[in-house]
Amino acid sequence: MSNFEGGGAVVTGSARGIGLAIATVLARHGASVVISDIDADAAGEAAAGLVAEGHRAIAVPCDVTDEAAVTALVDACRESFGSIEVMVNNAGITRDSTMAKMSLDDFRTVVDVHLTGAWLGTRAAGRVMREQRRGAIVNISSISGKVGNFGQTNYSAAKAGIIGLTKAAAREMAKYGVRVNAIQPGPIRTAMTAAMPPEVLDRMLESIPLGRIGEPEDVANAALFLGSDLSGFITGTVIEVAGGRNM
Ligand code: NAP
Repeated sequence: MSNFEGGGAVVTGSARGIGLAIATVLARHGASVVISDIDADAAGEAAAGLVAEGHRAIAVPCDVTDEAAVTALVDACRESFGSIEVMVNNAGITRDSTMAKMSLDDFRTVVDVHLTGAWLGTRAAGRVMREQRRGAIVNISSISGKVGNFGQTNYSAAKAGIIGLTKAAAREMAKYGVRVNAIQPGPIRTAMTAAMPPEVLDRMLESIPLGRIGEPEDVANAALFLGSDLSGFITGTVIEVAGGRNM
């Protein structure tokens, strides 16, 4: 079943890009969504857009590296919508450069937003979901965490760490009826990829068996599947949404 019957879903970093696509597809399948982002104004606009489409949505600003804010985010979902059925840890940043030039701050900041942020989100949602005896957590990793990307030692390390977090948390929470899975997107058409030089994008296209860059909705549909009862016997897994690249 992919109709959430009004139950709550939280998506971090969902004012735009992949996060907004995930929140939108969850809302279209009956979830009441919490749009959360470090950018409070953008989160408010995104939530207003969903409400204008006839969905139930609120905006809750949250920096995913802030422990108290992440707890408050999950609480806001439960208070507003009565439950938290789905938690999607999606917020992310890049600070690319080769390791020779990368500062310790660039390494720590990227690991903090992706890995610590996903851990805080998994822990906070997990606490409530354990009590509910149901729930699905979806962590957004990256193919970069599988194969390693040049210039992304920080990002690749954080995204690989998210896989370990996902599997360990899945083991801990299975007995409470809580599932934890991850998605590894390949190149997806967002602000991140729009900034790439055309020749780099062309080279990338040649390496994608399905012959196109992914759309945010491709990732959102996988998140919908992992967040819903359609994937009720699936936990601790990783779905690659990469058009076959690096399979
Ligand atoms: P995006 O368009 O940059 O969206 C990321 C959102 O997260 C932004 O709204 C950003 O706000 C927000 N954010 C940044 N730091 C945050 C923090 N500390 N707390 C809360 N929110 C924060 O990126 P995207 O392409 O949609 O990526 C979404 C996720 O997919 C990321 O985890 C990314 O690593 C992953 N991914 C993307 C691709 C791709 O090709 N696009 C591929 C693989 C994996 P600001 O704009 O204010 O920074």
